[in-house]
Amino acid sequence: MMHAFAITLFVLWPDFTIAFAPSGARSASLQEGASTIGERLMQDATVRAAVERVKQDEPRVVEDQMRLCAIPAPPFKETARAEAYKAAFLELGLKNVRIDRAGNVLGERQGAAPTPHLVLSAHLDTVFAEGTDVRTSRSGSVIKGPGISDDCRGLAVVLGVARALNDGGIRTPGSITFVGTVGEEGLGDLRGVKHLFNEELKGRIDRFVSVDGGGSGMSHVAVGSLRYRVTVRGSGGHSYGNFGIANPVHALGRAIGRIANLPVPREPKTTFNVGRIGGGTSINSIASEAWMEMDMRSSDRAALTALNSGFQKALDAALSEENERWGQAGQLVMERSIVGNRPGGAIGADAPIVRAVQSAGRAVGLEATATEESTDSNIPISLGIPAVTVGGGGSGTGEHTLAEAFDSTDSWKGTARALLLAIALTHQ
Ligand SMILES: [Zn+2]
Repeated sequence: MMHAFAITLFVLWPDFTIAFAPSGARSASLQEGASTIGERLMQDATVRAAVERVKQDEPRVVEDQMRLCAIPAPPFKETARAEAYKAAFLELGLKNVRIDRAGNVLGERQGAAPTPHLVLSAHLDTVFAEGTDVRTSRSGSVIKGPGISDDCRGLAVVLGVARALNDGGIRTPGSITFVGTVGEEGLGDLRGVKHLFNEELKGRIDRFVSVDGGGSGMSHVAVGSLRYRVTVRGSGGHSYGNFGIANPVHALGRAIGRIANLPVPREPKTTFNVGRIGGGTSINSIASEAWMEMDMRSSDRAALTALNSGFQKALDAALSEENERWGQAGQLVMERSIVGNRPGGAIGADAPIVRAVQSAGRAVGLEATATEESTDSNIPISLGIPAVTVGGGGSGTGEHTLAEAFDSTDSWKGTARALLLAIALTHQ
């Protein structure tokens, strides 16, 4: 619950007011403001007390982390964890708590004004299939459990920030919507955050922070990806009796040979991978169907577009080559389905939101190392909305494996940084 004596944090330094104004003419003070926001917030007794309380309350954050981790959230089946998250939002006294049509959990905390409107978010889903044992075990500062870091850490930190604002009686200048998203991982294809920006809160989000996993990292470069499933079909037949017809497996082989030679720039890093291939009936059958899955990535839209065009040409050439080899134009048909499309982009290293992360980290002794990732922030970054993905403190290892673990040594710093950042980003 928000305390009745809530103090509005109008620590509104004039230069920070300018800090997020889009005026390029005043760029000198623009950067000045965000670069020290964390340190200056810490000069406020109310904020300092809230940070001190975060340090004391960290065991609760870790408890939430373990509790949420033990609720399975396989891809496309996040409902049980979403319900638990919703209950936590209600307990915190957040307003308009709801689960939207995509399955995201939302809860609002009003500030002195509706804007700037910050979304502080973490993702509900894991990469682990249904039936995976997601129970956690603890030994000293280390907790083991699939998903304990990615992203139960983020989910718990988001709750920790809401609790710290409430307990500290802090009324932020702008407002915050706390969110747990669905579909961040793999074939979830960011469907939760896409729904958030394209429908649920369309046009109403000024800044976005995703707390994803442990550690001190910060990502303002969003690696975009494009994924295809390609299926080739033909009549198929006996490997001896029907020899002389176009072969779907051979067509894919021709395609992969060309794909393997596609040129890509080293900078910006641009990658491709045929990750899976399958099809066919038996060793002595000409397949009637074969398929493969292709993943292409880059933070640079033009590089990704160029790579995709090379990929499409490789497919066209392979198909006609295989058909022509047997003098059977049109014998094989190819289906190309996009199974993943995550737009990429980058926020400048000197953008106010990036400076604010660094400053908030410095204020609590957490050095932000820059990383490049594909996360929920891809969507706002591709839309030109200031966004970063930050680690939730402590340190995670073995993410996306059954041996995933989280070391909670000094993890309060991650919660404290997220708290300072949340307050900072509600300022004009
Ligand atoms: Zn994650």
